Amino acid sequence: TLGGFVMGSGPSPQSGGSQRYPDSRRPSSQPFGRPPLRPQAAPPQAKPDSRAAPEKKEFTNKEIEEGLFRRSKVKAKETPAKPLRKIDTKEFENRIRLGLRGDEEEDGWRKRRPTKGMRHHEEQEVVRPTKISVRIPVSVKDLASEMKLKASQLVAKLFLQGKILTLNDMLEDEIVIQLLGHDFGCEIEIDTKEEERIRITDKSMEDEILASDPKDLVIRPPVVTFMGHVDHGKTSLIDTIRKANTAQHEVGAITQHIGAFRVSTPQGDIAVLDTPGHEAFSHMRERGAEVTDIVVLVIAGDEGIKMQTEEALAQALASKATIVVALNKCDKPAFNAENVYRQLAERNLLPEAWGGQTITVNTSAVTGEGIPELLEMLALQAEVLELKANPNCRARGSVIESEVEKGMGPVATVLVQNGTLKVGDSLVFGFNWAKVKTMKDEKGRDVAQAGPSTPVRINGLSGLPDSGEEFIVVKNEREAREISQVRHEGKRTTTFHAKRRGSLESMIEQAQEGAPKKMLNLIIRADVQGSCEALKNALKKIESKKVEANILSSGVGMISESDVQLALASKAIIIGFHTQMESHVESEIKELGIQVRMHDIIYHAIDDVRAMMLGMLDKIVQEKDVGKAEVKATFKSSQLGVIAGCQVLDGTVSRNNQMRVMRDGKQVHKGPIASLKRNKDDVREVAKGAECGILLQGFSDYQVGDILEAFEIIYLTQEL
Ligand code: GDP
Repeated sequence: TLGGFVMGSGPSPQSGGSQRYPDSRRPSSQPFGRPPLRPQAAPPQAKPDSRAAPEKKEFTNKEIEEGLFRRSKVKAKETPAKPLRKIDTKEFENRIRLGLRGDEEEDGWRKRRPTKGMRHHEEQEVVRPTKISVRIPVSVKDLASEMKLKASQLVAKLFLQGKILTLNDMLEDEIVIQLLGHDFGCEIEIDTKEEERIRITDKSMEDEILASDPKDLVIRPPVVTFMGHVDHGKTSLIDTIRKANTAQHEVGAITQHIGAFRVSTPQGDIAVLDTPGHEAFSHMRERGAEVTDIVVLVIAGDEGIKMQTEEALAQALASKATIVVALNKCDKPAFNAENVYRQLAERNLLPEAWGGQTITVNTSAVTGEGIPELLEMLALQAEVLELKANPNCRARGSVIESEVEKGMGPVATVLVQNGTLKVGDSLVFGFNWAKVKTMKDEKGRDVAQAGPSTPVRINGLSGLPDSGEEFIVVKNEREAREISQVRHEGKRTTTFHAKRRGSLESMIEQAQEGAPKKMLNLIIRADVQGSCEALKNALKKIESKKVEANILSSGVGMISESDVQLALASKAIIIGFHTQMESHVESEIKELGIQVRMHDIIYHAIDDVRAMMLGMLDKIVQEKDVGKAEVKATFKSSQLGVIAGCQVLDGTVSRNNQMRVMRDGKQVHKGPIASLKRNKDDVREVAKGAECGILLQGFSDYQVGDILEAFEIIYLTQEL
């Protein structure tokens, strides 16, 4: 039968006709006139009504033929130079035999429309390359032009695979790209050379140090950051340390503020970052720079722990830096160490004085009391923490700060973290590059080289790098310039932006990479202390052996900028309970992709957190059998490889199923379907009894009689 074939009537929503010929375009086809071949067809002026009652009618073979003929005639009018092409009845019958009409009614209609397009398609296929090499990420548009296809063809194919993309979207997944190639008979090779070159290395600094020959490793000074509440004495402490250090060495040297400096102590050196406060610290962490080894939490002994102390503490804990507490202002009469000890103990930081692990030192930035002890403690930590680096390799490190200096151009203070940086080295920071012209220490003295944990001020930069940006030395100036240029142009920053984004998805991915017990980092803000405590306690009670809700910070008030920074740096989710966001943070949250959940009902908040914890668990993978097919014959296709001609014995086989190839009861292959064809067309599904062509990804060794078992992969949620 020819059921379901609908021709030339009004737009029919069911058939998708209205999409192919939008109303705005329809009238333009009218002037071509419709030859009165089929007077029973709805006349054009009946169009507005026909929308309400789309006409669907069955046609005979002859009518279809005429219909096609008529359409080709319309086309001929568009391009009057071409003579009318008459369609051979036999050819058309061939097409029906080939199954272009298909068994399914819907398909029969759908297939007919692209007749024109398909002819087109075949013409193009002749010149389409069968092998190309692309760099990823590649935009859909660029990939299509490489494959000599219309981007819409790729978009449509991706759509069928469930991926809704537009022309400018980037494809990053190798498999998706190669499958697309497969679908269009084009072998796509992924050119990773450029990608690797641009990325310079896949290894993190830590990996590089671990991979070094142990003989090359030396103990490096710890890098220390001072954090704490405003006016508790961070700046004063740093100044006192800096002055004491200057006095020890050369009297009269002018110390400059360059963002960091080295201090010598009898126990060894330490490197101090002298931009105090947690904003600078979290700003660097946001960019992926975990520079700080030790956080000195400065608490004025007369005031005790304050709001910003809490924030600083949360940041320090999240960064996994070691915490040393400086109980400052010990010269003041109101200084009360015991009070601070108690506050520390309440926050799981039991001080040594009370038998715990947290080192505390009483200091006074005014009298200088306790400062040598503090430095000694810090220097000793290098060995305790086994801080090591390899000075005999190319330098890598982070930008502490940068500015444009008169007569020098852009200059940056960088902290070398591994290797040794030398004058004349060429390096790349994110989008900028440099060839080190001069290198100075914090006292303004020229230095020729700087080893691990040494801050130096360098010039010879192409632009201003951001603080926290990583730098890495490359072969030569040309390489440095080229890499930064390509990064700049192509926004090839996959590694850079991949580090950021605290979205739940990436957290889940990250969590799945390892880690025996997964962590869901949370920041809680509530309207009053009581509800904050209640929520915290309830969340702590969610029991799970697999995931832990880790409350990084909690407090009363609106969701603030520092919460957002902490969330970004620690990949945490902010939970607002009966509270609001500060007005300016809203846009920041959107821009940075921070997850914020606002709740007014405690049970909803708990359920939400529970759902997020569940979401972090790996799903249990199960294979569900859906159909079975037997290989009846094999065909070689020059473009696609070997196709197994099969008959579906049981159930259905779908394009997105996976397949087990069974031979004599044994599995010889398992993998996804690359293409499912019915007669020459790609189909989504083939039902029991029907014949089809199956092409598997990465397998071609079919034998007649093989059984192909189709299965779906289903993911079951684990229990907490
Ligand atoms: P920051 O905001 O944490 O950097 O604090 P500052 O270093 O600016 O110090 C704030 C105020 O506390 C200044 O007036 C300092 O003089 C004073 N201060 C800092 N450390 C001490 C100390 O150890 N003893 C006394 N008495 N005052 C101090």
